[in-house]
Amino acid sequence: MVELTGMTREELTGWIRAQGYPAFRGKQIFEWIHRGTDFDGMTNLPQDMREKLKACATAQSVSIRLHRKSALDGTVKFLYEMKDGNCVEGVLMRYKYGISLCISTQVGCRMGCRFCASTLDGRVRDLTAGEMLGEILAANRYLEGEEQKVSHVVLMGSGEPLDNYDQVIRFLHLLREEEGIRISLRNVSLSTCGIVPRMYDLAREKLPVTLCVSLHAPNDEIRRKTMPIAEKWTIREILEACRNYIRETGRRVIFEYALTEGVNAGKAEAEELAGILRGMQCHVNLIPLNEVRERHLKGVSEETVRNFMRVLEEHRISVTRRREMGDDIEGACGQLRRKVISDSTDGTC
Ligand code: SAH
Repeated sequence: MVELTGMTREELTGWIRAQGYPAFRGKQIFEWIHRGTDFDGMTNLPQDMREKLKACATAQSVSIRLHRKSALDGTVKFLYEMKDGNCVEGVLMRYKYGISLCISTQVGCRMGCRFCASTLDGRVRDLTAGEMLGEILAANRYLEGEEQKVSHVVLMGSGEPLDNYDQVIRFLHLLREEEGIRISLRNVSLSTCGIVPRMYDLAREKLPVTLCVSLHAPNDEIRRKTMPIAEKWTIREILEACRNYIRETGRRVIFEYALTEGVNAGKAEAEELAGILRGMQCHVNLIPLNEVRERHLKGVSEETVRNFMRVLEEHRISVTRRREMGDDIEGACGQLRRKVISDSTDGTC
């Protein structure tokens, strides 16, 4: 099966011509795909053409296997299913400025962060660009009938985006194709655990994407306790790559910091973090650790979050705490997928 969702308008037109159809059919199909429509709904195509295409190509890479809506804040968690039966998660959040969707870039993850549920069974496979786009298209189908569609995208679901670099870059380009889904890259954030050479590559792409870095520690010794990637690159190297990203793109970098009891959440760590970020065009996003059943790390009290925040503010570092959304619906990365896998009898989802 040829996956049409991953193609640019030009590629799709080329492919459709190679099948013996006129080029304008390619443009029509591209527009339908980006509106989330499957072959059956492509009403301006002849019936026999639709049937032929159905037999050899996919126009929808992803479907929603199940969803859970939070009673607290309207956040929706999706379990997406791909054509080969693999599942990944996504989270839809409603903000004043629009609708934000957190998408996955890999099935599982091989980075091994100790606090994260997505990585417990390693990486199963990379997602294609078409599947990443498919996650957004499926969410838009879910929103059908509402005025708003997904306007913001964060690559913070399962997987390490920079470990699936080429497909992620292709996906980002698809977002701004003419007559396509048209999501501004200014509304896209990409989160990495800090794969330094790839951070430089991303800067060279000169895309106005917000780079988020999962720092989670003010020094390498603490970072190595929870993040295996810290054995490979130091915080100093990561911060240098961030400065380069800021220079190349003119955009500030966001550091994510999951506060973990007894690991990284004390006053001394806050002071040290403020020290290493001094003078940088950045923002710190504090995440109270979401406790994962299989992991033995503890979250922190409200008071610890407040104290940590105060120290950063005293040093004039821009800081917010991440709103805890969808707390009642297995909000943390990878938790819903794991729950469905473990509840099923055959171990698949
Ligand atoms: N691989 C990328 C993106 C996926 S994780 C990265 O590492 O940035 C998205 C964010 O959620 C990361 O900052 C990650 O460190 C954080 N995260 C994962 N599990 C968490 C948990 N149990 N509690 C709080 N944050 C978590």
